[in-house]
Amino acid sequence: MTRGLLLVVSGPSGVGKGTLCRALRKRFPNLHLSVSATTRPPRPGEKHGVDYYFLSEEEFKARVENNGFLEWARVYNNYYGTPWGPVRETLQRGEDIILEIDMQGAEQVKRRYPEGVFIFLLPPSIEEQKRRILKRGTEDAESLAKRLGAVGEELKYLPRYDYVIVNDSIAASVDKLAAIIIAEKCRVKRNQEWLAKFIGKDGEGQE
Ligand code: 5GP
Repeated sequence: MTRGLLLVVSGPSGVGKGTLCRALRKRFPNLHLSVSATTRPPRPGEKHGVDYYFLSEEEFKARVENNGFLEWARVYNNYYGTPWGPVRETLQRGEDIILEIDMQGAEQVKRRYPEGVFIFLLPPSIEEQKRRILKRGTEDAESLAKRLGAVGEELKYLPRYDYVIVNDSIAASVDKLAAIIIAEKCRVKRNQEWLAKFIGKDGEGQE
């Protein structure tokens, strides 16, 4: 069985990561979305176990100690981490999973799981990014300033990603994400197991 794809999607706050990942799941119903743990308080409407696992700082640190996270990072003054177990189990079943995480976390995933596919989302402009965060209405002035101010630092990580998408239209960005998933699944290196039936060990075709 071919292993599932681990996709990492990062981008500045307000770029539309959540919206795109949800839209992508409509196109690929078997695509799993990793549910992160965080110490940030829930926003109105967010549900424990669905949007995030909302933990106290003590609970979060205990999970770090127990190696419960594939990666974790402090982002905009809160802790966020990806629980390892569900990711590992999904990939082992041959199913795909998408991690919507920040750039520091993506660096850690790249070290631990280099076969991952790393996608960076960009807003069309800083003005549009600010407009989207304000429209969401979830951040106070301090958090908004922190999120907008982080962009310069966040962009430094972009060259380490495999793909970049400017999210100027949801439909076009979902098409691009779908194209990446489809192309990655066709890569020879991801299909070695079943290809071995047709190709000899030295790579020569078998009569
Ligand atoms: P928000 O508070 O807006 O939900 O997320 C803030 C930032 O934390 C976003 O950039 C988001 O991608 C990132 N984030 C969410 N979950 C994780 C995680 O598990 N690990 C890391 N490193 N970042 C995360």
